[in-house]
Amino acid sequence: MKAWGELGFCLAAGLGTLCFLGAACRSGEKTSSLVQPDKWWSIHPRPVYSRLEKVGTFQDWFDVYRLAEGTFAIYEPNQFEEALSYLVLGSEKAALVDTGTGIGDIRRAVEELTDLPVVVVLTHEHYDHVAGAWRFEEIVHLDSPAALTVLAAGRDNASLQKYIAGDYLWKPLPRDFDSRSWTIPAIVPTWLVKDGETIDLGGRSLEVIAAPGHSPGQVCFLDRGRRILFSGDHFFPGPLYAHAPDVNMADYIASNRKLIQRLDEFDHISPGHNDPWVDKEVLPCVSRAFETIYSGQRQYAEDKGLRRYGFDGFDVLIRADQVESVRSGYPPVQANLVFFYYRDLENARRFYEEILGLERVLDYGFASIYRITQSSYLGLVDENRGMHRASEPKTVTLSFVTAEIDGWYEYLESCQIPMRGPIRDATRHATRGFVVFDPEGYFLEFERFLDHPENAALHAYLEGQEAVYPAAGTSTRRPANLGLLANVIWLYYRDIPAAQEFYERTFGAKLLVDQGFAKVVSSSPSGFIGLVDEAQGLHRFSENKAVTIAFITDSVDDWFIRLDAQGLTMKEVIGSSPAIPVRAFVTLDPAGYYLEFDRFLDDGRNRKLSYNLNKEG
Ligand SMILES: [Zn+2]
Repeated sequence: MKAWGELGFCLAAGLGTLCFLGAACRSGEKTSSLVQPDKWWSIHPRPVYSRLEKVGTFQDWFDVYRLAEGTFAIYEPNQFEEALSYLVLGSEKAALVDTGTGIGDIRRAVEELTDLPVVVVLTHEHYDHVAGAWRFEEIVHLDSPAALTVLAAGRDNASLQKYIAGDYLWKPLPRDFDSRSWTIPAIVPTWLVKDGETIDLGGRSLEVIAAPGHSPGQVCFLDRGRRILFSGDHFFPGPLYAHAPDVNMADYIASNRKLIQRLDEFDHISPGHNDPWVDKEVLPCVSRAFETIYSGQRQYAEDKGLRRYGFDGFDVLIRADQVESVRSGYPPVQANLVFFYYRDLENARRFYEEILGLERVLDYGFASIYRITQSSYLGLVDENRGMHRASEPKTVTLSFVTAEIDGWYEYLESCQIPMRGPIRDATRHATRGFVVFDPEGYFLEFERFLDHPENAALHAYLEGQEAVYPAAGTSTRRPANLGLLANVIWLYYRDIPAAQEFYERTFGAKLLVDQGFAKVVSSSPSGFIGLVDEAQGLHRFSENKAVTIAFITDSVDDWFIRLDAQGLTMKEVIGSSPAIPVRAFVTLDPAGYYLEFDRFLDDGRNRKLSYNLNKEG
């Protein structure tokens, strides 16, 4: 009786598991033919294999080919993944790049090829690359918390069944494979590597190149000596999976750019699926493929919200909504932020805190951020740690928009702040203002846009914005009645129409004030960019400039993908570092101004800034 009871319990638990795996159940409905074509095996034999030296077939499951001296491809042609693992022999050690689906005994196959001790090096955390890893003692993986969580979870028997059901298999499973006990035990790597680290095999080494995108833990291994890049699933000649939930497209694009920079260090790519020996020239095509997808210039097949774009030598699978969310409209910018660069950061901080009375809302030590208004900020950076040096020309004017222009003038004069000239109503356009110099010579303009038709659009845009007064509890001398309403970052160009066209087309910026030689365009709710003809402005054009214009946005990935698709030059591809908890990239405007896009991550150091960005009113 007890046995029956237990059986009943097991059955119930089993059903529970099935229901819990809702996603897996749905994929039990036929997989879209965009992902898995009917009779996918009609591709066999893939032409490349007739050109390679076949070593043999092991366990009726692995076909082994020699790619180069001491370099073998271990291929699983009978299952839909067509997984490829690689054995790389050094003089002291062998590396097994990935371990396949776990259906065959890959350790036994490897031991027939070498007597060397074997270290497993995993390209990423997906099942079809890691399933045989448990058979080995030494396992290397990228130090990626998200990927390590996946590895530690392992896979239970039920969740793997779909990979050997129906059309997934072309030929029978190996005789000694037991599908009822097939699992992937939790994998705990014995060596966590970082980008740029080297795995030494004796006379031969593999460099770790982190290439997130396909998955968080994706890496490529560069064998510089044999000029081979083991690419995992970053690239393989087949449908690249850009639609899966753990894909990050901005990372994917950035990783591809990173690999293209290394193109002269290898000749061939040995990928995780299908074809083990691919000419490297496909990589730039992958980069262009993403650009054409997102620029909408490419044909595709679509089925239930999934798109398959065809290219020469590979395809891209991507969800329609991923593409359209980037293409439709301009992602919102919460605030703008201008960075200035200083030799004496402490002195600059004192000026902006004590004299101007700005509130410090972020401090990374080498950089501080001050609030001008809720949607405009100023960053002060130590020149030794920043993207610019203080010695570069300060080709920028930061303008504080205020209603209390005369009060500010009196106050700053009383503080003996050096001034460029007396307060005046500008003769050429409807503003009243004056210019002072900050401690290292940046031009600061205090400006009031007068009631005049020329300024009507700007005033309408600023409707509802409230001026910011000195925060209580700060040590400033700034009188409590002197407010700041907005800012304008004035930049200097040789070709104003081209600059205006760039900001309108690229950012959806709107022209708010047209003074002829100078234009104000929208950026954030109270942050503006001013485009000035250098021949008539406060500064002349310069190649270099000690300023970075940043845009704070939650949609930093969408912005990256969008600007990449428009072919903008990327100064820094997207990424973040533990030292600076910001996901960011940097591009250039037509005059070479650095434009940075920032998403401040959930980190204690960012809390005060995040609070200021998100608070009501
Ligand atoms: Zn894979």
